[in-house]
Amino acid sequence: MTTATLSQTELLSPVWTHLTDIQPVKGEGIYLYDEEENRYTDFTSGIGVVNTGHCHPKVVEAIQQQSTELLFGQMNCVIPPTTVKLAEKLNTLTPEHINRFFFANSGAEATEACVKLAKQATGRQHVIVFQGSFHGRTHMAMAMTTSKTVYRYKYQPLPGGVFVSPFPASYYYGWSEDEATDFCLQQLDLLFQGQTAPEETAAIIIEPILGEGGYTPAPAKFLQKLREICDEHGILLVLDEVQSGFGRTGKLFCFEHAEVKPDIIVMAKGLGSGLPISGIASTEEIMSKWLPGTHGGTYGGGSAIASAAACATIDVIYEEGLIENAAARGAQLMEGLRKLQEKYPVIGDIRGKGLMVGTEFTKADGKPDPETTSRVLQACLKKKLLLLSCGSYKNVLRWIPPLVVTEEQIEEALEIFAEAMSNEQ
Ligand code: PMP
Repeated sequence: MTTATLSQTELLSPVWTHLTDIQPVKGEGIYLYDEEENRYTDFTSGIGVVNTGHCHPKVVEAIQQQSTELLFGQMNCVIPPTTVKLAEKLNTLTPEHINRFFFANSGAEATEACVKLAKQATGRQHVIVFQGSFHGRTHMAMAMTTSKTVYRYKYQPLPGGVFVSPFPASYYYGWSEDEATDFCLQQLDLLFQGQTAPEETAAIIIEPILGEGGYTPAPAKFLQKLREICDEHGILLVLDEVQSGFGRTGKLFCFEHAEVKPDIIVMAKGLGSGLPISGIASTEEIMSKWLPGTHGGTYGGGSAIASAAACATIDVIYEEGLIENAAARGAQLMEGLRKLQEKYPVIGDIRGKGLMVGTEFTKADGKPDPETTSRVLQACLKKKLLLLSCGSYKNVLRWIPPLVVTEEQIEEALEIFAEAMSNEQ
């Protein structure tokens, strides 16, 4: 009865904060359309989900086809063949030692699963994450998420056994990548001396590019050193590729840039082009230590329909050369942004890989500038270009268009951004 007095959107929980109140009714490629057929250029990709673009016809067709055959098969009862097919596809694409797969629905669920696996596989209880990390919003994942206090606000205390080490974000420290790497390795060693002994540590979990925390790539040397430390102490190295995976950075997985061998890969977002599916991939040795029946869930198994979407997504990524396109368009985007940086010193840093690019806004005194970030974001929004901010100080704009984006579309977005920046002078 009370609903009569409420507007449509007041029916939704206030816990969601929206970038905009646009209600898209149609998506196509890099565009979203509302009921009045206004067209919005989506450089958020639903936060890195629709790497193949909105409603890619091949993905849609696969979903339609699967829905006529089998919507659902409970992995705890039967084995849906489409999910097996997805595991087969991933097996051909992941590094050779990675050959066992577990599926779930969201990135947070995959994070939870990887911690449970790491605990059983090593018999140890602690995990190490990095300052600025984001691994999800369930309680354990929240305990592992340190990018913004709002994610933890009034939810604490959170599950224990999580230790936080500094991330080599060289720009923040004003150091070179090597200096930041050395400092963070030393801090990690102090963590081992003072908080969690290596032999109590099950896993080190890292995003190869800090996503929500500010689009900061981890230096290759840092990732390589983590690999050495993990090898030395029997700790599992987990790469969270939820935001950086599936072609986004110009490689299928971002860790390929640094040529490190993960023990567990966490994946979600770009895997399903919008259908809820996530997964963890690991070695036969590690997965074989995960005791049967100790993890799962009704939908934890990659539903037949989401698996079909994921299979089609992977096909599209390769058939349409989206990984190469991400590299080329990312380079073009960076170059365009760098030209603007020369004109606008408030753009303190431009960083990223492929089409996972961040522009950090910094005041003349070197302090973060969230106000300018927000104004520029709103000015772009007025021109119907959707961008998101990120970073602990909300002073980084992220550029994550679908990987089908064309050269002209990148130029158009840069023009809108340039116009927004010109208002700042
Ligand atoms: N890991 C990373 C790196 C992420 O960026 C996110 C989501 N932003 C997650 C995990 C959690 O994924 P989900 O929102 O699907 O739970």
